[in-house]
Amino acid sequence: MRIGLLPRGGGSDLFSLTIHAFHLSAQSNGVSRLHGHVSRTIWNDVWHGVPLGEIPIGHITNGVHTLTWLAPSIANLFDKYMGSEWRQIIDVNIWDKIHEVPSAELWNVRNELKEVMIKSIQHRLSLQSQRLLSNTKKGKSNEVVLNPKALTLGFARRFATYKRATLIFRDMERLKKILNNKERPVQIIFAGKAHPADNPGQEFIARVYEISQMKEFAGKVVMVEGYDMHLARHLVSGVDIWLNTPRRPYEASGTSGQKAGLNGAVNFSVLDGWWVEGYNEKEKNGWSIGGENDFGYEELQDKLDSEDIYEKLEREIVPLYYDRNEDGVPEGWMQVVKESIKTILPQFSTARMVRDYFNIMYMPAHIRGERLAEDKFEKAKSLADWKSWMKSNWEYIKVVSIEKGEHIRDDLGNLTEYYEIIITIDLGPLSPSDVAIEIFKGVMDKKGEFKSQGLIPMKRLGEIWEGFYSYAGIVPSDDREGWGFFFHIVPTHPDLGNKYELGLIKTTYVAATELGTL
Ligand SMILES: *Cc1c(COP(=O)(O)O)cnc(C)c1O
Repeated sequence: MRIGLLPRGGGSDLFSLTIHAFHLSAQSNGVSRLHGHVSRTIWNDVWHGVPLGEIPIGHITNGVHTLTWLAPSIANLFDKYMGSEWRQIIDVNIWDKIHEVPSAELWNVRNELKEVMIKSIQHRLSLQSQRLLSNTKKGKSNEVVLNPKALTLGFARRFATYKRATLIFRDMERLKKILNNKERPVQIIFAGKAHPADNPGQEFIARVYEISQMKEFAGKVVMVEGYDMHLARHLVSGVDIWLNTPRRPYEASGTSGQKAGLNGAVNFSVLDGWWVEGYNEKEKNGWSIGGENDFGYEELQDKLDSEDIYEKLEREIVPLYYDRNEDGVPEGWMQVVKESIKTILPQFSTARMVRDYFNIMYMPAHIRGERLAEDKFEKAKSLADWKSWMKSNWEYIKVVSIEKGEHIRDDLGNLTEYYEIIITIDLGPLSPSDVAIEIFKGVMDKKGEFKSQGLIPMKRLGEIWEGFYSYAGIVPSDDREGWGFFFHIVPTHPDLGNKYELGLIKTTYVAATELGTL
């Protein structure tokens, strides 16, 4: 069977740049763990016949450049209480020292950052409203005044519809009560642009602006124009809570939450993209919205997710923020702030990301490149010859038999629940060193979909006839319905980038119940 020829399913024969790139690359990766999984699902057909977990797309989670996004005043606090070691960023152990930074000092610095942010935003808002007034020539401007003491939520990003910017407005009455509580006020700052061709996205912006102009939300909800890196820096360091509400699993990674988290602006987000990796329930470094199950019905999902937002704001987030000690410091809140910095700053830095790319992708590719280039590309030429030889002779491979062998005995001679499977293959003109034989154990469900539970390599026993070779693997017994084995024959060569790059695979499935005895 030839793999790698199928465009994205559905029989389309359009040229796909992504599939082309897969074919030209020895390695491929998604930009978060979840994105790796989603990518394997989307591109499953490119490696038709290969179990999902074996699709050669890995992941390296995105990070942000720490010193670009960390507020200088917070960096100064780190210098003061943690020494300059923290500037190595990547060493997670250093970050335990975050607990030596006094909560009161960090709280003060965070409040200063909030005030700077609010000044900058009010300036932008007054320019915005002057411009709108001169356009409409309608009355005098109603200056909005944000409250530097209020719990402040930030939502700033592209207004793509999957990010559901208006989700928090689903129950206006309930939100009104949360925002307008006299003792425990809450405000939300929105910023972001939509793509010029994304009309629904632009309507989201219009809707947020419209709400910001309602009397009951004046000074509680603002929409700031001209989102760029400068404004982003103010927002990710100045807000208390960073809100992100994408529809799972559409957020490949998302990075603004990393920028916020490393400044101690706590994430309150859907478990999508990077946050499903970053969120740490035990250490309490932020809050989740919804769970990891998706309901498939958008309307229901929106209802459940928005209710979770209100619920957590009312019961946990707002009370914790306003629970102050005798010095006016929210101790419990500052613990979450510190955990956010400790767990997010080193792990979601470009330092960690580049190290991963170097170790996992670039170095192996470099070493392979050097090897192939030796002696005027001697190995590259012989690899190319070998590949065309394999392609023209692959069709001669035939599975002769698959049989159940002996039960395995333990050291005391007792029978175990493992037994041997023996496969005999006619390799035709190919040599046994050209191929690897693998078993995937797993369950074939009623729809004919195979759920792999892992790979078992097979060992060559020997040539039993000219060109006929036997291989053995040890598999567990299992009573489950549908329990069975996929046998894969794939090309193998020390200079290959990955075992699927020739697009050659031969697969055979046998249910456990169909295995005869030797
Ligand atoms: C970080 C950043 C983004 C990306 O944020 P997401 O969370 O991935 O949506 C977009 N715009 C600006 C200006 C940024 O700084």
